[in-house]
Amino acid sequence: MSRDAFAPSADMLRADEAITRLLALVEPVAETERVALTDAYGRVLAEDVVSDRNVPPHDNSAVDGYAVRFADLSAEAETTLPVVMRIPAGHVPDRPLAPGEAARIFTGAPVPVEADTIIPQEPCREEADGRVVLPPVKKAGQNLRRAGEDIVAGQCILGAGTRLRPQEVGYMASVGCARPLVYRTVRAAVFSTGDEVRDPGADAPPGAIYDSNRYVLIGLLRDMGCTVRDFGILPDDPARLRAVLQEAAAEADVVLTSGGVSTGEEDHVKAVLGELGTLDFWRVAIRPGRPLALGRVGQAAFIGLPGNPVAVFVTFMMFARPLILKRMGLREVLPRPVPVRAGFAFKKRPGRREWLRATLEPGEDGLPVAQRFPSEGSGILRSVVTSHGLLALPEDPAEITPGMVLDFLPFEELKR
Ligand code: AMP
Ligand code: MG
Repeated sequence: MSRDAFAPSADMLRADEAITRLLALVEPVAETERVALTDAYGRVLAEDVVSDRNVPPHDNSAVDGYAVRFADLSAEAETTLPVVMRIPAGHVPDRPLAPGEAARIFTGAPVPVEADTIIPQEPCREEADGRVVLPPVKKAGQNLRRAGEDIVAGQCILGAGTRLRPQEVGYMASVGCARPLVYRTVRAAVFSTGDEVRDPGADAPPGAIYDSNRYVLIGLLRDMGCTVRDFGILPDDPARLRAVLQEAAAEADVVLTSGGVSTGEEDHVKAVLGELGTLDFWRVAIRPGRPLALGRVGQAAFIGLPGNPVAVFVTFMMFARPLILKRMGLREVLPRPVPVRAGFAFKKRPGRREWLRATLEPGEDGLPVAQRFPSEGSGILRSVVTSHGLLALPEDPAEITPGMVLDFLPFEELKR
């Protein structure tokens, strides 16, 4: 055969086109629910959160000290003023500060009207007669936190489609939002295919291998915040595939499989998918990762990942994850690469996007330098275990030279 079976051809999609198309296939789940703040971690906001108040709600003191009117102070000499009120946090002063007066004030306490400066307590001296000696002060407005400095009433503080990390949950709490509206949790279904594939714990007769893909996928999906139903391992049998695919699609928002999507005569996933639903595309100019099947069965999005464990990892990160994040309601679904320099030379096929596993080391000019895992074999799961992330090699040029700036995707991105 003269034609290279893996050479990119005219009918192959570029990786970015494939991602655009697959994102067009899915919408966020329709159902939403209100949850308590402590149940909101990791969930996705389904509406904008608008603050009905200022944060902080009142001008308040940033330190323990004395509230004064700047005009009463001297820039060169000490000033002695009577302390006419005491304002702990949580208490509101009952009158404005008159000229020539000071107020004892504590961190977070509302500043009395007409006071414009807070002097920290350390350089001050309180006398036995109830007066305080204040140091020279050159600048007005110090140590005062203004109402609305963080958030002003009416401001949208978080947009729909935002993932709620601890800091976002705290931010909502700061405006008094107690039950945010979030998308319901996405339900994923996972199974592996292959007559040779066995579950760890079972015997592995000659010719058999243990299923690693399912255990990678279940973890990746849980990290994303999906609930996962595990359908186990299916033999290369169209009837069994059909039955399980139907059951999985009936209850899941996303069905993920690995293996069985090549063009070999034992690869039945695509044919069964074609019968039960629609097959949208599967030829993408990438490596590792060909082949890849995407489609729909009823309401469920279907993603058929390759069988090789490294290809599973890469195609999950690049294709499955953005699709599932969109289904979860997230606004930003693409991984965010960081620039690094190639620490090696490498020849690749032109027109094809490739991802190498790589580790980072410090570089001389501030950009980290990526060293590639020595083998590209897509069955070597150790490459994912020992690497820091994926190094993206663009379609062009075909030759990577040392020092070239490339996109790197840290595995930590998967936790986002
Ligand atoms: P396939 O796409 O079904 O031809 O599988 C490609 C390669 O991946 C074969 O070597 C399979 O044995 C291997 N493979 C398939 N499924 C799994 C799995 N669940 N865990 C580990 N390896 C697998
Ligand atoms: Mg197979």
